[in-house]
Amino acid sequence: TCGICVEKCPFDAIEIINLPQELQDDPTHRYGENAFSLYGLPVPQEGQVTGILGPNGSGKTTAVKILAGELAPNLGQFEEPPGWDAVLDRYRGTELQNYLEDVRDGDVTVARKPQYVDKIPDRFDGSTADLLSRTDERGVLDDLLERLEIEHVMEQGIDSLSGGELQRVALVAALARDADFYFLDEITPYLDISQRVKVARLIQEMANEQGRSMLVVEHDLAILDLVADNLHVAYGEPGAYGVITTPKSVRNGINEYLAGYLNNENMRIRPNAIEFDEHAPRETTAADALVEYPDLSKSYGEGEFSLDVEGGTIYENEVLGIVGPNGIGKSTFAKLLAGRLQPDEGDVDLELEISYKPQYIEIDQPMRVDVFLSSLSDDFGSSYWNTEIAQPLLLDRIMEQNLTDLSGGERQRVAIAACLSKEADLYLLDEPSAYLDVEQRVRATRAIRRYAEMQDATVLVIDHDTYMIDLLSDRLMVFDGEPAEHGHAGRPKGMREGMNDFLANLDITFRRDENVGRPRINKPGSQLDRKQKSEGEYYYS
Ligand code: ADP
Ligand code: ADP
Repeated sequence: TCGICVEKCPFDAIEIINLPQELQDDPTHRYGENAFSLYGLPVPQEGQVTGILGPNGSGKTTAVKILAGELAPNLGQFEEPPGWDAVLDRYRGTELQNYLEDVRDGDVTVARKPQYVDKIPDRFDGSTADLLSRTDERGVLDDLLERLEIEHVMEQGIDSLSGGELQRVALVAALARDADFYFLDEITPYLDISQRVKVARLIQEMANEQGRSMLVVEHDLAILDLVADNLHVAYGEPGAYGVITTPKSVRNGINEYLAGYLNNENMRIRPNAIEFDEHAPRETTAADALVEYPDLSKSYGEGEFSLDVEGGTIYENEVLGIVGPNGIGKSTFAKLLAGRLQPDEGDVDLELEISYKPQYIEIDQPMRVDVFLSSLSDDFGSSYWNTEIAQPLLLDRIMEQNLTDLSGGERQRVAIAACLSKEADLYLLDEPSAYLDVEQRVRATRAIRRYAEMQDATVLVIDHDTYMIDLLSDRLMVFDGEPAEHGHAGRPKGMREGMNDFLANLDITFRRDENVGRPRINKPGSQLDRKQKSEGEYYYS
């Protein structure tokens, strides 16, 4: 046994050689016999953005329920919960003491942004204005709407909003409240990078200028780095236990996470470190062309969106990253390649079979995951498929579930597996990172890359997580223009040139962490920011 459960491990999953110090004490909360136990708690701090970094299922929601006063922690004594006095005894003298006293007295109000914004239309019927008018407790609605550029959807029904619009409306709804503590469970899914940066700045201001306590769970590490003032790492065994560490500096927390080893906890959380190229990888040109396409243009009608594409080449065997704002024509380009849309100018006479994972996943048949996946490929269940697809995407534990019962991250993993399982010339994945936790992003990245290499497959990946795009891509295709009006697609380029084009459009530069070479967003106007801009080096130093 691992020392947590009294009897044999019911999960058959746990092998802990050195029980970390955290796990030698009683948990903060245990749901029941052999049920999930939470160790530690995050510490909300006035004037600070506190980040939580870690996999789904490690107890973050449980912790927030405790901090919100919805769940009285039982210190592991689920049969006879000891009550608040015992809890306060346990936390006496710690940073949480005052906070928990307020929770006990019912004096804490919490505003929350739920993780899965896609579910909001199921629970709310009405317009955006109806939804937001109820939450405007601080009288700041107009300002928030303007900052997040979402005024135009006020009169629209909630059920007509795109994922990126819903995400921003949900953020505005939470941030407009007047609460003691704000809990934002993922701030980036479906947002492009400039929207992500705007949200991050808004949250920072609420903490640093208005003295509010903000708690943010985020899996886009570049954004987490930007938004948080301090960081708890969460780790554990899904379903069994979760540990929320004491706060670390954001820099150390993320570096330790990437290294796969938590220093203070003396805990290895992954066998290998994740490493970034500090210098752009050399461009290889030996590969055969899969597609050569000419200049193309497409417009959806008089005065509607139009797209111009610079002719280019996509090689066999490469992972081509596609970056650019939402609404700039990335999906339109994919449809032109797939022959699903005809261009107005230029000729795409391609007989390419394309396997496509859309941004918003709709796999809602009442069907089991294994039945669904086996209907797509003869390889389903082969040892190759198991090793290259099922294992890295952690599908084993959800094979027997119904598609309709999956969480957002599970659904994403099934959709990536479905896309890669089909026979095709070109695989196109639109925002595979959405709702994947950090660990799953790393695994999915590895699976997609290996798949491209081993199957001689060509993969196009649209994503807004800079770390994921960096780790995945051999080359980059950059879209720019005016969203919803006009888009321009550059030809595919090497990573250095592509990143420079892309980040110059956004006016964002990255520096490198001194210790691990990880890219970090520069403060606008800082010395490095100005130097890199003048040299035209936005990403690779
Ligand atoms: P996270 O927010 O990090 O994804 P949660 O706090 O939601 O994690 O869940 C952690 C674990 O606790 C999960 O395995 C979940 O199934 C379990 N859990 C959550 N609520 C209960 C409950 N009421 N009874 C038993 N187990 C629960
Ligand atoms: P992206 O994939 O970069 O988010 P899209 O290619 O999906 O962008 O869309 C670009 C623009 O074209 C958006 O403003 C979108 O509303 C518009 N658009 C997409 N499909 C159609 C269509 N069938 N008719 C009219 N406009 C469309």
